Amino acid sequence: MRDGINEEIMKKILLAGKIAGEARDYGAKLVEAGKKASEICELVENFIRERGAEPAFPCNISINEIAAHYTPGLFDDMEIPECAVVKVDVGAHVDGYIGDTAVTVDLCDKYGKLLEASREALNAARRALRSGVNLYELGKVIQNQIRKRGYKVIKNLTGHTIGRYLIHAGISIPNYADRLSIVIRIPPNTLLAIEPFATNGRGLVKEGNITNIFSYTGKRPKSELNHIEEKVLEVIEKKFKTLPFTPRWILKELSIDRETLDKTIRSLQAKKLLHGYPILIEAGKGVVAQFEHTFLVLKNNVIVTTDVSSNA
Ligand code: MN
Ligand code: MN
Repeated sequence: MRDGINEEIMKKILLAGKIAGEARDYGAKLVEAGKKASEICELVENFIRERGAEPAFPCNISINEIAAHYTPGLFDDMEIPECAVVKVDVGAHVDGYIGDTAVTVDLCDKYGKLLEASREALNAARRALRSGVNLYELGKVIQNQIRKRGYKVIKNLTGHTIGRYLIHAGISIPNYADRLSIVIRIPPNTLLAIEPFATNGRGLVKEGNITNIFSYTGKRPKSELNHIEEKVLEVIEKKFKTLPFTPRWILKELSIDRETLDKTIRSLQAKKLLHGYPILIEAGKGVVAQFEHTFLVLKNNVIVTTDVSSNA
């Protein structure tokens, strides 16, 4: 997204951001104990579609020590527990231009300070963000807000630049003062997401054994696919390109049963045609808070595309 942000592209970026921001706030209001994650996610995803965008990735509802990447699966469907700390992470795209944004809901108001740490880290990053800023400085600003409230940054989760039909366009935005990124500066005309994760745990995530989010790798099959594999891959390529999706979405598209679809997805993954994103769990089982916005960094100003309070 470096060059050529003309008026038409700008409009799409802003619309995607606005819809993602509204969907995030709508999703946050739906969160309550005892509700199924699938009920919330389907409402959020339909909200995005009804407003003329498409989900850029499945609605993520990650609870307590799960930091990211949980979306309801074909067989498992989480219910929101009592007093949960719930991250609602939502993405919308218009013609491939993406808005990515998240908020944390604390159902029993027990983790106010933890949420504040992540939220204030995002606010501080927002104040520091400009074209030419180096990622070490930006990471330091984020980390300071979290540290001074007594929490840890999750070091192996980062923000990211965003491209057309690309959630992660190559540059990671660290949430700590990472010396390796001192030489990296944000060029003008960059779309990016910043997402500080704060925790009372170890400050690291590890992969869990649930995978409900996948994306097409863009590779051609090396061996013959069976009829169902071909059909499923065709739908994925056509509908989602290389953006993340969840099998729930395909079930509605194709008249096959859950077991067959699940088997087919796993086999496409084994053949390296699909990439899986397992849930990410805090390594010390700490509670995790996350706030995220998408920013369009221009030469002389920065637009927070997913802030619906300012661009309403
Ligand atoms: Mn996100
Ligand atoms: Mn993101």
